[in-house]
Amino acid sequence: MRIEKFIIEMVAEELKRQYRKSENWKKRIIKRVLLGTVNRIIPGRLWIVRGIPELGDRYQYYEVYSRGERYLCTCYTHPWSGKRRPCTHVGAVMLYERIQTLLEPGPGFEPGK
Ligand SMILES: [Zn+2]
Repeated sequence: MRIEKFIIEMVAEELKRQYRKSENWKKRIIKRVLLGTVNRIIPGRLWIVRGIPELGDRYQYYEVYSRGERYLCTCYTHPWSGKRRPCTHVGAVMLYERIQTLLEPGPGFEPGK
């Protein structure tokens, strides 16, 4: 589990730099992933992210849609969403997906052999 935490930190840092976000943004997306709030509904298309009131979420669930590299979150339709894009819901989805790709054994990988 330690190594996973390390990988999560590393990937989150990468996303933070890529999108020029703050350290706080990075911490929030890590928290969302570690709390298991990201649920993949349609691979590559739709995720549901459970809201965390502690992080200022006002809704129980957020839907994140993707079309290629572009992501949309239902929080973007709220007047208070401001310019915090990508929001931490989208950030958490990107982090989750990148980690899945890294941790899921790919074809040809047989643990223990
Ligand atoms: Zn959002």
